[in-house]
Amino acid sequence: MDVAITGIPFYFDTYFPSMKKYFSISVVSLGLNRFATVTTDITNIKQAEQIIAAKNKELEQIVCVASHDLRSPLVNVEGYSQELGFVFDDLRSIMEDLKDEPDKIIPALEGLLAEITDSLTHIRLSVRQMDALLKGLLTLSRVGRAALKHEKVNMGLLLQRLIASMDYQIHKLDGQLEVSVLPYCWSDSVQISQVFSNLIGNALKYSHPERKPLVKIYGFSDNGKSKYVVEDNGIGIDKEHQEIIFELFHRLDPTAKEGDGLGLTIVKQILFRLDGSITVESEVGEGSRFIVTLQGAEND
Ligand code: ADP
Repeated sequence: MDVAITGIPFYFDTYFPSMKKYFSISVVSLGLNRFATVTTDITNIKQAEQIIAAKNKELEQIVCVASHDLRSPLVNVEGYSQELGFVFDDLRSIMEDLKDEPDKIIPALEGLLAEITDSLTHIRLSVRQMDALLKGLLTLSRVGRAALKHEKVNMGLLLQRLIASMDYQIHKLDGQLEVSVLPYCWSDSVQISQVFSNLIGNALKYSHPERKPLVKIYGFSDNGKSKYVVEDNGIGIDKEHQEIIFELFHRLDPTAKEGDGLGLTIVKQILFRLDGSITVESEVGEGSRFIVTLQGAEND
């Protein structure tokens, strides 16, 4: 080993897949032809670094999307304010040109009034759009800061209560829900209710025009984890869009149904904080399956 010969210490980090651990190895010289290695378990540090990197990436994405999405209504406000400026220039010219013929002023103003109304309508719409985006960002930031509980959650009971609270929505959309026996998990019941409320809401909302929404919720234990599936018979999601739907404000068809493109971002954010995860499997025209993974717990 070079260290024993040169006396120059050597450091490196390594990962042992069989132990699922990271180690920092320092090799130091103890004199000619002698060396010692010091091995430090740095798995926690590496995991914290990975979490920070993921958080940073997420924040960057939020800032990028938010500034991009806020810009388009802002450009609209700017454009239509300019239009209003031109209308007022025309108004001034009309008043000036027709000051000796006041009876011609009102007919000349009619066209301008329509332009003013049109510009104001666009400005108001853009302001509302910006307001909705900012409210969305605020909701997301609240989700990211909410205090978390770590409790044993009876998912069957949680779903039963949640579905009862969604009764109006389910009836309005003529939906049917089937819930199987579910494994318990360790999590935060308030946050998890929000996750399933969003997933069930979407499963009902993105229904297929030719059939009534049928949502099946089932779960199973897998390697110390509890997995829950929210399955619908709706319109489905193209393979190439299955990742992007979790991005902030991303909607596949913004005109199709009401929404702000925030629900799945919130779901992902909550699960990230709870050390859980979500994946989707879907077939266009057939339906979707959202799979939530959480820390498993023994059923009572
Ligand atoms: P929103 O429903 O407000 O648009 P979400 O973040 O909940 O926002 O969903 C993002 C997009 O993902 C939706 O606009 C829709 O295009 C798609 N989507 C979500 N859930 C489903 C589903 N169960 N079936 C089909 N498409 C879905």
